[in-house]
Amino acid sequence: MSATTTLVHGGPVLDVRGGTWREGAAVVVENGYVTQVVGREAVPHETDAEVIDADGGHILPGLIDAHAHLMSRSGVEADADLITRSVIDGVITARRFIESGITTVRDPGCKHRGIHTLRAELAAGRVLGPRAFTAGPNVVGSGAPTDWRNVFADGNDAVRRAVRLERLAGADFIKLVLSHTTADSDWSLCLRYLGDEEIATAVHEAHLLGARVGCHCEGIDAARAAVAAGVDVIDHGLTIDAPLAARMARQGTVYVPTLWAFRTETHLTVGRTITEDQAAVYEERIGAVHEQSVRNAVEAGVTIAAGSDPIHWIPARDVLVCELEALTAAGLSTADALRAATLGSATALGEQDRLGSLETGYRADVLVVDGDPLADLRALGRPRLVMKDGRVLVDLRDDKKASEALWADIATGEPASERQPEIWLRRD
Ligand SMILES: [Zn+2]
Repeated sequence: MSATTTLVHGGPVLDVRGGTWREGAAVVVENGYVTQVVGREAVPHETDAEVIDADGGHILPGLIDAHAHLMSRSGVEADADLITRSVIDGVITARRFIESGITTVRDPGCKHRGIHTLRAELAAGRVLGPRAFTAGPNVVGSGAPTDWRNVFADGNDAVRRAVRLERLAGADFIKLVLSHTTADSDWSLCLRYLGDEEIATAVHEAHLLGARVGCHCEGIDAARAAVAAGVDVIDHGLTIDAPLAARMARQGTVYVPTLWAFRTETHLTVGRTITEDQAAVYEERIGAVHEQSVRNAVEAGVTIAAGSDPIHWIPARDVLVCELEALTAAGLSTADALRAATLGSATALGEQDRLGSLETGYRADVLVVDGDPLADLRALGRPRLVMKDGRVLVDLRDDKKASEALWADIATGEPASERQPEIWLRRD
């Protein structure tokens, strides 16, 4: 073994594919990669490797949030104040995520391309946080709520041009906004912003440029059109029926339901002209339909990815755990939920051969937590150590007090953190 070798051992290691713990194993890390997971006895005693003792903690792959906006602020005009605050949010959020054991983020949209700069700073290690894959501004047809204003494109040529420009400006993947439901009327009434042909054009162009495509879908007709056009990821997808789920499974379309986010008051009321009572009714209707969509997808064998979708506020530290709990309420086992937050999310990124598992050839993103998350997902809220690319970025093994302070805002399941009064545009 070389001098750059690190061993992580001293606790059960998760086989995320099988959903089981491997006792007495050691994760061998070299040059940022997992080279092997072996029995501890297979590791020579005489080794100059750095040894990290999990001290009874559970060892699993770093978590991947498949839908999280690092820079959450949006508003009418991208003035200096808004941009500055969004950048500060991005830095704070990135730090919170890595402290929460999230080592990779799929960021599906930011109003400005500065998000690609944050991605580069994270990659360079100048900003503490997860690895990020960023879409930047979303491509959307005219008529979408102004709060979502990103890149407006109408007609095939404009859509093709918008996709090209975002990809060449640095987008890792292309994100389309296809539809919203209307909050204060029948939920099935869906506002469509891109037609079938425009979606097909966007997907074709993105794939030509080597980029995957995700899309914000709420009503089923938009989701059907998106899947027919060959999108790679359905985000939110409030309404997925059994035939559509079957097609998604066949095509390998990944589903990022963001169940929990759609149940939070923030999502339901911010920017929407509805009262709290209406929000409650909406939640009830959307919640049931949304949950059924997840059940349909699971039944059909669709790959589920875990996305917390924190918008409009800096997320609490347990935001992804909340989504995993919501997924288990919709029928996933805890093992399924952990798979969604690792390999599932990696699949959404097209990185399933490189991220989301502790096995040979995978990036050495390692999380050590107190307790068994297969028994209780809340154990994910007690990280002791977080490694990204073979480097330890968070280590709370020796400092119980700091660890407790860090996690003080966990446990309620509510986004406890700052909710800022904002200049949100109303949706009408
Ligand atoms: Zn989102």
